[in-house]
Amino acid sequence: MNDTTQPAPQAQGALPVGLERSRGAEGPEPRRGTEDPVADPERSRGEQSRGGAPQAQGAPSPAPSRQKPRGRHNRRFGGRGPRPGNNHLRMDIRPDGPARTNVRSDVQPGTQPQQAQRFDNRQVPLRVYPLGGFEQVGRNCFVIEVDGDIYLIDLGLQFPDEDMLGIDYLIPDISPLRGRENRIKGVLFTHGHLDHIGAVQHLLPALHYPPLYGTRLTMAFVKKRLDEEKMTSKARMNVVKFREKIRLGKVEVEFLRVTHSIPDAAAIAVHTPYGTIVHTGDFKFDLTPMNEPPADFPRLAEIGDKGVLAIIADSTNANKPGNAKSEREISETLHGIIRDAKGRLIISTFSSLINRMQQIIEHARKYNRKIFISGRSMETNLEIAEQLGYLRVPRGLIRKVNPAMDRLPDREVLILTTGSQGEEMAGLARIGLGTHRHISVKKGDTVVLSSNPIIGNERAVAKVVNNLHMQGAMVKTTQELALHTTGHGYANDLLLMHRLVRARHVIPEHGEPHMRAAHADLARQIGYPENQIHQIANGEIIEFDAKGDARKSKSKLAFRDVIIDGRGSAGEGQRVLDDRKVMSENGVIIILFRVYNESKRLVGDPDIVSRGLIYGSEQQEITRDLVQASRKAYEDELNRGEKDRKALKRAVTGSLYRYFDRKLDREPMVIPLMVEV
Ligand SMILES: [Zn+2]
Ligand SMILES: [Zn+2]
Repeated sequence: MNDTTQPAPQAQGALPVGLERSRGAEGPEPRRGTEDPVADPERSRGEQSRGGAPQAQGAPSPAPSRQKPRGRHNRRFGGRGPRPGNNHLRMDIRPDGPARTNVRSDVQPGTQPQQAQRFDNRQVPLRVYPLGGFEQVGRNCFVIEVDGDIYLIDLGLQFPDEDMLGIDYLIPDISPLRGRENRIKGVLFTHGHLDHIGAVQHLLPALHYPPLYGTRLTMAFVKKRLDEEKMTSKARMNVVKFREKIRLGKVEVEFLRVTHSIPDAAAIAVHTPYGTIVHTGDFKFDLTPMNEPPADFPRLAEIGDKGVLAIIADSTNANKPGNAKSEREISETLHGIIRDAKGRLIISTFSSLINRMQQIIEHARKYNRKIFISGRSMETNLEIAEQLGYLRVPRGLIRKVNPAMDRLPDREVLILTTGSQGEEMAGLARIGLGTHRHISVKKGDTVVLSSNPIIGNERAVAKVVNNLHMQGAMVKTTQELALHTTGHGYANDLLLMHRLVRARHVIPEHGEPHMRAAHADLARQIGYPENQIHQIANGEIIEFDAKGDARKSKSKLAFRDVIIDGRGSAGEGQRVLDDRKVMSENGVIIILFRVYNESKRLVGDPDIVSRGLIYGSEQQEITRDLVQASRKAYEDELNRGEKDRKALKRAVTGSLYRYFDRKLDREPMVIPLMVEV
């Protein structure tokens, strides 16, 4: 095992002003829990920690390594991360055994003074690994294993890239959990976006319906997914409050408010007997959020004071300098546009941006416009949010789009529509094409895209914008005005998160490799040494030992692409995609042989059907060649004494591949069929 005297990442006092390690070590800490006027009422809890072997107390060094085992005990500032005192813990690993009861629920688990236990080096008490979300934005699923108990964070979907022909989406590959379903203590959802909850209805049966946890709006969106598959009655859904502590087996779980682009987004702290793990979920730090409280800075810092073993943090915008823009700025821009527009307004945004819609509703009411909704996802989300009190809508202000709206004066109409990503079937695209059932562009219309094209959608969005211009609308986008802001923190937001939480290990998540690499660079900038920054891919495992050191496991979980295509799902995602790719690039050819049952001799020439492969004048000649070549290959094989169908087909396929390669320089999909007569 590694030594325990690894140097602190940086010298004391070398941190920027305000983050130096003085606060905890000397003098009283500024009172917390009183400066946040809007956050939820439960305050200043979690003071119970009796720090098992705290480190330099409260040391807000970003990357605390364990200096000073057995520092002064300070109730307020327990040590961080894994207690040095922990290396005599014995990990009680009994598969399927009952949860140990010697974890006192009033004690912050990571700081336990666990008695007389010996660490069994062969077993890894704590391991974490992603089953998605680390090589893409989407398909998020993160696993924390504590003494063999399994905790899942998020079950998201990933929308396909352009080269994933025709499939609906991809979901995490949960096959590594197979056979251990009874060890799954819970699925914790960070927030209600589809890249975090969208796979729930596909995976819940395979996971044997473990209990689900999330904040109120998040669980309402989870329920909606489950309703679609009529699974709600079987699912065990639990709504949690921010800061509430929930015991699940050996761990305590706590949801902490963060700001993102959907209300009720949470970071999740999992207090294990071996240290606390914080998963940020998707977040930015909006200091002036609209219609919701800011992030729970005090509690994040407090957890940081007590010591955090590892943080798994959003990397989406790690490569953008500065801070993410506040929602307030967007509200102000929208206010100006709604105030000044003379004609109708058509505003398109994401249907989960509930707080932005609230702003639009308020501005519309102020300037006496009625709102007409186009798009089913927007209708249902507005309904859910309103029912739960996340949205306040004056009676009679919002309706579905309908022909009656044409009777209102133009300056009293505001249409709120989906389709800000250029989706072909959504409202905005159809308005642009002039094929919308109720809405066609009029002279004087202002169209506002309160959104950014997601990577990969830029062309589609540009097309829609062009169409709208051609129909005579004035179009306003984020290119000229502050009409959209991200829900993912920029570099400074991430740095602030690390300064608050001060985890010992940093695991950048939620992003393609280049985003996670940028995040790792940020961690280096604030002094994290290489062995405390962990860049892993899907299926790679980080193991923690009893001293709180972490390393990548030598074994890697097999990671496949699981696709959802129509209503089915398949684990052979890659094969399906490869097939579609071959067909789309090179076409397909089917050869039908009629053969005698016994002798397998041919009855006449084979029939050939091809698609996307041979056209025009060459068609006849090539077809004749193909008939000849396949017939010859078949009969040669037969004359060699081969009667096995598979072998016969293989001979034909091989011969045709060679023909196509030589003659056409192409590799179509070749499908031989045999019918016995
Ligand atoms: Zn999100
Ligand atoms: Zn996300």
